[in-house]
Amino acid sequence: MAGKIAPLLSAIDCCEGDRAVRSAVMTPTTMRAMQIEQPGGPLVLREIPVPLPGPHEVLLRVGACAVDRFDLAIRAGVRERAVSLPHILGHEIAGDVVQAGSSVTGLGEGDRVASTLYLVCGECRWCLRGRETICENFGGHIGVNVPGGYAEYVVIPARNLVRIPDVIDFAEGSILANAIGTPHHALTARMGLQPGDRLVVTGAGGGVGLHAVQLGRMLGAAVMAVDIGHAKREAAARLGADVTVDPTMDDLGQAIRDWTGGTGADGVLELVGPATMPDTLDGLAKGGKMVIVGSHTGKEWTIDPGNVYRNEWEIRGSRNVSADELRTVVDLVGRGVVTPVIDQRRPLEDAEELHERVRTGVVIGRDVLTP
Ligand SMILES: [Zn+2]
Repeated sequence: MAGKIAPLLSAIDCCEGDRAVRSAVMTPTTMRAMQIEQPGGPLVLREIPVPLPGPHEVLLRVGACAVDRFDLAIRAGVRERAVSLPHILGHEIAGDVVQAGSSVTGLGEGDRVASTLYLVCGECRWCLRGRETICENFGGHIGVNVPGGYAEYVVIPARNLVRIPDVIDFAEGSILANAIGTPHHALTARMGLQPGDRLVVTGAGGGVGLHAVQLGRMLGAAVMAVDIGHAKREAAARLGADVTVDPTMDDLGQAIRDWTGGTGADGVLELVGPATMPDTLDGLAKGGKMVIVGSHTGKEWTIDPGNVYRNEWEIRGSRNVSADELRTVVDLVGRGVVTPVIDQRRPLEDAEELHERVRTGVVIGRDVLTP
């Protein structure tokens, strides 16, 4: 339609330098986006204005945006944080820079980038220590508190973006921060997994889990993959899990003790929550570490503090990944050490179908929208 080829005059007016002007001329004024227009309502394809980046922001042409279980929760309105409507979902994004804000340095037109998820201040004590995922002034998520990547274009703060090499395509790039960065941060910075350790991963067949299995092996650990899905356990085995367990069929705590010769696992990566936690804690070795990354099966869990101190257990939380850690993930994937597991690559119009695939638990790794 005519609007898609008209020049973006307002951007030309506000930008300096040949590069910014050339980029703006090529950028259409409108874009296709899948919007939520009412809580729990359908995803609706609309033609809407292309957003403009602020001084510290970048306009990206979305190369890919992955679909995550979290998207379904936001859509259903169960998240406490208010989302203004209409809203564009999508927080796992990769693309190329079409326009950088006036104060942005180090990124320019044509740069291929992947994005972290969180809106952070960059100035608080945690941000300054490289732990921006626990920013004191946490501003929420891209795709929740600001429009996300279920669209042809998206505006992202420059501090969230990390360059990716040509060997990583946009679909792979879109899952680096959440699906790969999350277990990377959890297993390295939070668990300190060591060569020779025995690692249990629950929810191992999901998007985060399958990469946790690979990272566990990369770090030199033996890995038990726990998942209720047969195809997901098979995928985990293909990606390096030494043993797989169906917690609905087997006594998980006993299975862990049997696997470890009775001593228990050195590390447990919990991606499931109370449905598996009593059993995985039962299988944790003395001095073992449980790192909790997700808890979609509930909010409450009973624990005997005496067991914690008698065994010197460490029970820690882990939240996503910093931009600096994402650079390490980019390097690992670029060198082929970790393989991004993409199930389906589909056009924007198929977002509804991909949500249904997440809802029914059939996705192996991540499904990705390629606007
Ligand atoms: Zn901060």
